[in-house]
Amino acid sequence: MSKKKVVYFWDPDVGNFHYGPGHPMKPQRLAVTHSLVHHYGMYKKMMVYKPYRATMHDMCRFHSYEYIDFLQRISPHNVQNFTKSLGMFNVGDDCPVFDGLYDFCSRYTGASLEGAMKLNHQCADIAINWSGGLHHAKKFEASGFCYVNDIVIAILELLKYHPRVLYVDIDIHHGDGVQEAFYLTDRVMTVSFHKYGNYFFPGTGDMFEIGADSGRYYSVNVPLKEGIDDNMYMHVFKPVMQSVMDFFQPTCIVLQCGADSLGSDRLGCFSLSVKGHGECVKFIKDLGVPLLVLGGGGYTVRNVARCWTHETSVLINEDISNEIPYNEYFEYFAPDFSLHPDISTKQENLNTRQYLESIRQFIHENLKYLSHAPSVQMQDIPTDIFNLEDPEENLNPDIRNHQETEDRRIEPNNEFYDGEQDNDKEEADLDV
Ligand SMILES: [Zn+2]
Repeated sequence: MSKKKVVYFWDPDVGNFHYGPGHPMKPQRLAVTHSLVHHYGMYKKMMVYKPYRATMHDMCRFHSYEYIDFLQRISPHNVQNFTKSLGMFNVGDDCPVFDGLYDFCSRYTGASLEGAMKLNHQCADIAINWSGGLHHAKKFEASGFCYVNDIVIAILELLKYHPRVLYVDIDIHHGDGVQEAFYLTDRVMTVSFHKYGNYFFPGTGDMFEIGADSGRYYSVNVPLKEGIDDNMYMHVFKPVMQSVMDFFQPTCIVLQCGADSLGSDRLGCFSLSVKGHGECVKFIKDLGVPLLVLGGGGYTVRNVARCWTHETSVLINEDISNEIPYNEYFEYFAPDFSLHPDISTKQENLNTRQYLESIRQFIHENLKYLSHAPSVQMQDIPTDIFNLEDPEENLNPDIRNHQETEDRRIEPNNEFYDGEQDNDKEEADLDV
């Protein structure tokens, strides 16, 4: 039995942002998720942190300065002065200008970045940021409700210490922003499972997108048709991921857990259950490789919260009750108040075993071209972000970082008491 240290990021303000009336992306789903995680008592099994906030400098590790500068300046009160930029940066319709937009990006990106740092320094085996996973954002523009690509920025951080990073995306939409960022490199393999066809957003991700130059065969796409259920999803997910692991041998994994692949999603058309979605998370966790777990899409708020709560329990290896504990969002879970109601979509499954088998075969044949897992020459490692932001910290970074870490712990140390276990604040160690 190995001990797994799980770090979980929660920013109490991140659920208070609003994309605008009628917009399907609701940051409130994060507050609902956290409320369930908290009321199930799962904070006792994790280190809960209020995350670092990403700076402009952090965001510009991937994005252009002009684009981030624009995000920082724009507000609902001055949009009329930016009409040209709005079009240029694809901000306005799907990706609206709202109050606190830059602040929102800074919070969800900071948590993913800090998660990467915790993994790099072996302060955690698993880091969870449900507010992250905004996989559509591009270097120069917003896309699909995503402004800053926290995933790309976190992976760049992981690459300081990890020769090979695997990215896995189970959102119903293609993980196009992440794939594009690493399309030419063999150090990051991107694997996306998504709905493809009939102009489904974003329109990319057919199985022939395999990467280019040094990155040829390092982009993997699993295009699926609507209505896929748990059984069929597992039938393709597990063998594909096993082949990817065998051939690529990643030293770290980033998992985007978009919950719009669940049945009954407001924008999605798959038919996964919360347990089926969680089965993917369990499979990846059980590989035993350092893991950064992120959120993503998900537009039926109550089911997003159910899904990410269940997945948090999977990651800390705890069974939790099907009965939802009383909390401030209790009425969202009417009429059954359960974690696992039937959410299957009354929609025909257009996938066939034969179709999935042909995709699996195609991917397996391509992976055979990876003659050996790439490695990199070790180089001087750039300084970590905390030291860059405050020159004073360079004087004695260990002491300062330690104190800062203590300051940002959300749950008081004495709340880590859990029945027969003692209340040692290092008690995030879990039997796995
Ligand atoms: Zn999505």
